[in-house]
Amino acid sequence: MATEPVDSAFPHLKRWTRPVNYGGANWPAFFSSGFGRSRDSDVLERSNFETALEHLKGFDSDCPVCKGSGERNEANDPTYLPGISTSDQYKTCNGFGRTVIEVEENHWAVGWVAWIAIHESNVLALAKAEELRQHVENYPILDEDKFSEDEWTEASETWANFSIADRVSAIQRYGRGISVFAARRDSIPEDDSGSLFEYLARG
Ligand SMILES: [Zn+2]
Repeated sequence: MATEPVDSAFPHLKRWTRPVNYGGANWPAFFSSGFGRSRDSDVLERSNFETALEHLKGFDSDCPVCKGSGERNEANDPTYLPGISTSDQYKTCNGFGRTVIEVEENHWAVGWVAWIAIHESNVLALAKAEELRQHVENYPILDEDKFSEDEWTEASETWANFSIADRVSAIQRYGRGISVFAARRDSIPEDDSGSLFEYLARG
């Protein structure tokens, strides 16, 4: 397929290409935002993904091919009319009817992955994704406040789900100066130097 002018306008974004041994939906008319998450994502990856999705959804629009209906037609799916073989050209939004789509796929190694697909026609969303990718190239956190909240949530949940024995062992390893009796409380010990929190926030 010929490279369209839009591709070179967004050097940080990649047009979807079919992975090897891939049996899922085709997205040749879409770019990847460059933000994704999986079952194994850490707090930062999840936080950036959610921030990017929220920004990009602000530019969402009806799919220009199916006019938002999500229905197949001769313009978006070559198999709709027999005898047309342009399978790498078709523009289907795979039934979503949108130009900014959170796509979840099963993955052999990590269970599932999610990525943000942006239709080639949505240049404003593409420009925003390009800007967000440039941001993380210079500084890894998209939204500092949200990331801090997400870290706190992760650490709190980890602590709450720990057994007393897990908590004692975490305090002994990371919580210098903290009494092991703090293990009985369901809230993270407050007098911590930061290393216990960091450990808990890693999940
Ligand atoms: Zn469509």
